[in-house]
Amino acid sequence: MEYVIIGNGIAGTCAAEAIREVDPGGHIRMFGDENTLPYSRPMISMLLDGSVLPEKLAIRSEGFYEQLGIEPVFGSRISAVDVEKRRVEIENSSEVFSFDKLLIATGADAKPVDAAGTDLGNIFTMRTKDHVLQMLDVLPQARNPLVLGGGLVGFKAAYGLLKRGLKPTMLITSEYPLSMQLDENAGRMVLDELVDQGLNVQTGISVRSFEGNEKVEKAHLSDGTVQSCDLVIAGKGVSPSLSFLPGKQITANLGIIVNYHMETDAAGIFAAGDVAESMDIARNAPWINAIWPEAAEQGRVAGMNMAGRPVMYRGSLSRNVMRIFGLDLITLGVVNSIAGPEYEVFIKHDHRRKTYRKLVFRKNCLVGAILINQVEQGGILLSLIRNEVPITIPKENLLDPGFNFRKLMADSIL
Ligand SMILES: Cc1cc2nc3c(=O)[nH]c(=O)nc-3n(C[C@H](O)[C@H](O)[C@H](O)COP(=O)(O)OP(=O)(O)OC[C@H]3O[C@@H](n4cnc5c(N)ncnc54)[C@H](O)[C@@H]3O)c2cc1C
Repeated sequence: MEYVIIGNGIAGTCAAEAIREVDPGGHIRMFGDENTLPYSRPMISMLLDGSVLPEKLAIRSEGFYEQLGIEPVFGSRISAVDVEKRRVEIENSSEVFSFDKLLIATGADAKPVDAAGTDLGNIFTMRTKDHVLQMLDVLPQARNPLVLGGGLVGFKAAYGLLKRGLKPTMLITSEYPLSMQLDENAGRMVLDELVDQGLNVQTGISVRSFEGNEKVEKAHLSDGTVQSCDLVIAGKGVSPSLSFLPGKQITANLGIIVNYHMETDAAGIFAAGDVAESMDIARNAPWINAIWPEAAEQGRVAGMNMAGRPVMYRGSLSRNVMRIFGLDLITLGVVNSIAGPEYEVFIKHDHRRKTYRKLVFRKNCLVGAILINQVEQGGILLSLIRNEVPITIPKENLLDPGFNFRKLMADSIL
């Protein structure tokens, strides 16, 4: 059996391991345009803040490919997939590679900043280890860093710069940070915390254009003001990396649509990780939850199925655990944009103690939660959502941080 895996991130790596577990003899060829052992992408922000060295990011050891009998083809980018001829092509080469089973695990690319002048020097996105290494080269000269975007990546960038002794300005298009993960109450708690820590955060604002002489010097903002800057890190979200996809034969929406076996609508072609759109448990609809643990699990499920052992993916679920200075924060499932009579929302907010609990239910099941500074029950709430446990007691009881979940779980299993 000839297996081809495009992408050597966590999804591709877990898939290769799963294939080898089931099929000791098949030939596995793995393509990656980053010329490196698989590494922890979430930890690249720790390179920026100085708490980790580049060589500590690897998630597999030097002999990984050899030990598993994988043929790595790194530093090369797949430019086309031919579904009928069952082969892939690489950029700037006439060489083609055949497959019986193909996995697309190409992750996502950072969204470009929608402004003029982004080709100036010292303007970065933060998606790869190399991106951060390039930032580190210019960091010693930086005095006025600007961070664009208040999502997870923007936040991690700002935190890293603060830890390096710089005072970044953060520009957020929405009215509060982490707007994809939080509701307005929780977002404003995070905003207050960032401001209390000395971060200059401006909300409801974006960059129209950059100005400079080879390197960036100024940003012209949507409110007509001008912000001096000598380093810009943009965290404006990601989009699935699928430009090489043959449009007609493999269906994609925002990401590549997969079934519960992580297989696309082209037989024998699978997708996993940030590039794949799979069923979201909480939304009950196809969705991309671009997080590490889902990419790992999807890769493993895809690999098993590719090698002939049928395994069902249980569906994805958004979840984030963060510490933002004095705030411990967990978000799970659907926390925003709730409409319709089948949804019920319960909130407990203690401004003085800086605690916040929000639970979202669809019919009898919990589908989302935000916990700030009372996060101990995060694991059990995750389990209630994942297992779609019906809640038959008054739902507001679950807001109590002392609530006996153990009994609830035991009763629901009986
Ligand atoms: C700064 C940062 C912080 C993050 N923090 C968190 C966090 O705290 N928690 C969390 O759960 N998640 C976090 N994430 C998200 C997490 O890293 C991703 O969900 C995860 O890495 C996705 O894995 P993947 O294997 O699908 O894709 P990727 O890790 O993106 O790997 C895909 C690989 O495929 C390669 N590739 C792409 N196109 C081609 C092509 N045409 N040919 C060959 N190779 C190709 C890419 O170069 C890449 O190496 C963070 C991400 C970033 C960038």
